[in-house]
Amino acid sequence: MVISPHLLIGAAIGLKINNLWAVFILALVSHFLADKLPHWEYGSEDIKDMTKKEFFVFILQVAADSLLGILLLFWLLQEQSFWPYAIFGAFISALPDFPLLLLRFFPRAKWLLSYQKFHSANHLKQKNARKKTLSLLSELAVMALAIFFIRL
Ligand SMILES: [Zn+2]
Repeated sequence: MVISPHLLIGAAIGLKINNLWAVFILALVSHFLADKLPHWEYGSEDIKDMTKKEFFVFILQVAADSLLGILLLFWLLQEQSFWPYAIFGAFISALPDFPLLLLRFFPRAKWLLSYQKFHSANHLKQKNARKKTLSLLSELAVMALAIFFIRL
């Protein structure tokens, strides 16, 4: 999944659960579960093989996507009386994607390569995601569901 659905899912978990450790674990697990759903992804290419320009565009997409999620959270959480756990959940839920960016700078780091393998094993493969539209719809549905739970 891209970053904003992960942020929303994590925030929903943080809002509904009043135990920091439980939020940590559930938000972390939610990342890998959400990645199992058919979803749209920008930068389907391996980050190590991108040209400079492709990498730059990729970083812009990550930044815009993260900003969208953060703005949505600001808007959604302003009605909530207690939101620190929601912010924590959002952060933890999005976190597993970020070590992958380091591969650009340390393409041979063993722990990063094994992590990438683990992360993409959890990922639904692009060729299995039959239709791009379906993938985009399921991602939007996840976001809508998370927003519904946040506002509940
Ligand atoms: Zn991921």
